[in-house]
Amino acid sequence: MAIATINPATGETLKTFEPLSEHDLNQRLALAAAEFETYRTTDFKQRAAWMQSAAALLDAEQEEVARLVTTEMGKPLAASRSEAAKCARAMRYYADHAEEFLADEPADAPAVGARRAYARYQPLGPVLAVMPWNFPLWQVIRFAAPALMAGNVGLLKHASNVPQTALYLDELFARAGFPRGCFQTLLIGSGQVEAVLRDRRVVAATLTGSEPAGRSVASIAGSEVKKTVLELGGSDAYIVMPSADLDDAVTTGVTARVQNNGQSCIAAKRFIVHSDVYQDFAVRFVALMEALRVGDPMDESTDVGPLATRQGRDDVEKMVADAAGRGARVLCGGACPDRPGWFYEPTVITDITPEMRIFKEEVFGPVASLYRVGDIDEALALANVTDFGLGSNAWTTDETEQERFANELEAGSVFVNGMVTSYPQLPFGGVKHSGYGRELSAHGIREFCNLKTVWVG
Ligand code: NAP
Repeated sequence: MAIATINPATGETLKTFEPLSEHDLNQRLALAAAEFETYRTTDFKQRAAWMQSAAALLDAEQEEVARLVTTEMGKPLAASRSEAAKCARAMRYYADHAEEFLADEPADAPAVGARRAYARYQPLGPVLAVMPWNFPLWQVIRFAAPALMAGNVGLLKHASNVPQTALYLDELFARAGFPRGCFQTLLIGSGQVEAVLRDRRVVAATLTGSEPAGRSVASIAGSEVKKTVLELGGSDAYIVMPSADLDDAVTTGVTARVQNNGQSCIAAKRFIVHSDVYQDFAVRFVALMEALRVGDPMDESTDVGPLATRQGRDDVEKMVADAAGRGARVLCGGACPDRPGWFYEPTVITDITPEMRIFKEEVFGPVASLYRVGDIDEALALANVTDFGLGSNAWTTDETEQERFANELEAGSVFVNGMVTSYPQLPFGGVKHSGYGRELSAHGIREFCNLKTVWVG
């Protein structure tokens, strides 16, 4: 994919970029490796001061950054603003907590014949972050804030359609006071990732993106014996049981599906509703989906903007056509509005059967699949049928059911009576083909550390 800003609301190419030459790429890797040797010796107080000033800059520049994000990938402006605000909060969170999360962990010294024994967290070195466009600030910051606070240095290979956001982030950390090599954007295509991964100066990688990209990065890193964290796709269940607060379940369900124009890994994608409340849920859900305003993401009244790329919109169209062609019913939407840009109508489909692609694959757009089930066993079986396992929702006030969902849903997180969201305070990640490793919380910052055992006799 060419490295370019193409406004998805109009299809217009606004700016193109040349990928880094081999020489320039090499210089950046050299700078990262050299910088690590001094940066790792800085203390938490110094790193926290730089991180706090990065957060302050981001807050001060929120409007400008939000407009850039919306221009590059099409999410409604209000959503871009809140993404920027969330990033600043996460930066402050790690500035405040990194030292505590990475404190030495004392062990039972006498039991191992030592005078002192403990485990110490130490940074690994330059970490490559391969990131997607859908939350072009947040996906980067949730890696970078903990990684830099831990004393690592970051190399960002951002998605090719958000180059200006990538360059903004590169500058942000430098302007905040971090030495130049602590965080660098590499404007490269996905074809150049392998060479960077195999470079001995790069010690680990994190990838947020699709399953094929994750497989590729993990297998290359595996062959180099380098640590990886993978945050991949999802096709999460949103289960509604008879005891649920239906008003809340319906309105939250619509938000959970169409957030970010339907392009969120943790979006609710498959709505699995108990037959006692199915009809009521379906009527209200479809009415709200139909009422959403699709339009220019810069317009404050827009609920759903365009999909980020033409390819993404084509994929959604094909997935719905496949289902409809095999007998699924489209309850609303199901078409591209007649206007420039890569818009797709909020869509609800039902009567889905296992041979349809949408039954098992992730649909990355504002399309909800609606299923009716007779009991909790059927709900769980259907929820767990996909290869993904990222963040499931369950709506029930019955405590026995809540426990069963918490225990039996195959997912990295289960949210009961609320929408799956990421918080700096909670671990985030998946199981099955949704990936491995965790971001955020104390667990996230420890992923790219050497947990060194120290035994003193
Ligand atoms: P994508 O095509 O995998 O792109 C993500 C990043 O990987 C981009 O920087 C891309 O670069 C790069 N890339 C693509 N193929 C690669 C390869 N073979 N080797 C190395 N790098 C490669 O993903 P997307 O379609 O843009 O994003 C949507 C996917 O990301 C969905 O599946 C979504 O669920 C998932 N996602 C997961 C999470 C999570 O936290 N679990 C969060 C957000 C999104 P180019 O742009 O240059 O191709």
